Amino acid sequence: MPQQYERIETKLVHAGEPRPRIAGAIAMPIFQSAMFEYAGETSYHDLKYIRLNNTPNHRVLHGKIAALEGAEAALVTASGMAAISATLFTTLSVGDHLLAQSSLYGGTHDLLAHDFAKFGIEFDFIDADDRSSWKAALRPNTRAVYFEAMTNPLLEVADLRGAAEFAREHGLVSIIDNTFATPVNFRPIELGFDLSLHSASKFLNGHSDIVGGAIAGRADLIERITHRMNHLGGSMDPHAAFLLGRGLKTLALRVRYQNRSALEIAQFLESHPAIARVNYAGLESHPRHARARELFEGFGGVLSFELQGSTERAEEFLKRTTLPAIAPSLGGVETLLTRPATTSHAGLTREERLRLGINDTLIRMSVGIEATEDILEDFARALG
Ligand SMILES: *Cc1c(COP(=O)(O)O)cnc(C)c1O
Repeated sequence: MPQQYERIETKLVHAGEPRPRIAGAIAMPIFQSAMFEYAGETSYHDLKYIRLNNTPNHRVLHGKIAALEGAEAALVTASGMAAISATLFTTLSVGDHLLAQSSLYGGTHDLLAHDFAKFGIEFDFIDADDRSSWKAALRPNTRAVYFEAMTNPLLEVADLRGAAEFAREHGLVSIIDNTFATPVNFRPIELGFDLSLHSASKFLNGHSDIVGGAIAGRADLIERITHRMNHLGGSMDPHAAFLLGRGLKTLALRVRYQNRSALEIAQFLESHPAIARVNYAGLESHPRHARARELFEGFGGVLSFELQGSTERAEEFLKRTTLPAIAPSLGGVETLLTRPATTSHAGLTREERLRLGINDTLIRMSVGIEATEDILEDFARALG
């Protein structure tokens, strides 16, 4: 029985780590060995091999991430999309139907929209804010619901408590992408979700130097997903696992700082005359602020805002900032800015983007761990 830790800061450092320590090593060593000696295993899935997700580096992360999410079990994967695709292709098969929140992360949206049909899987998007509309979308072959903790890039917060309840009432597997919130701010398993997914490339690792994914949840589902993953091949490399384990230890320090910094920056932007609108669940002006307060312990490190005026003004602002990098992705220690119209949502027409609420001057910001004052000064100069 592994030792149980109560608080998340302690879990981040100690949960899942081998005791006694391997050769006394304080930091988890990297086991850069593809296979391990046969030790009498009776199942293919138990042979020790990197693709089978069961080397010492995998096992540390499985224990740690399960503890963080308050889940029975966890699994790490080669990327966030590997976690999402392996989960969906385990919980759904040919003839099944999925209900998914609209405005999904781009990769997930495209997996549903472009790939599902080839596997004979159906889906419908639902208005994640309007629980009363979900029942009408149910079909006899509906097997699962799929939500996100906060949407990209508008930071909407769906009726997540309702989603977990709805799934339980109708015998559906409930899945949530918890990348934007992290288990520091939100633990969906405690709310009743069956599976919580992550792109570990973002906050969990936090240093913009690996891609990785994670799945936490019910042990029976994690075992089925593990076996599917063993065949699909999306397992995590030991060196990435080492870096993820190292990054995770500071998750609470980083995320709490990013929560505070993002709120201050959102408040600054909201009161600035050059800004038309700010999307951040921590602001009282956010339409679901009350719901977010009830669900989350913090509102996360990502926000978005619209500038007054033309697309050129937004481009000029990006050029005039000196501290943030202009780059996609999020959740790292450095502040990043993107204009979704040219990156995550460039594949849509302008009309489609506007229908989703993505204006040409919308900028998404991932707040790093720099001094908040330095970012505010940089923004004040760039806007002035
Ligand atoms: C980045 C991201 C993903 C995909 O993760 P990868 O590690 O890039 O495969 C999935 N969901 C969300 C919310 C993300 O931000």
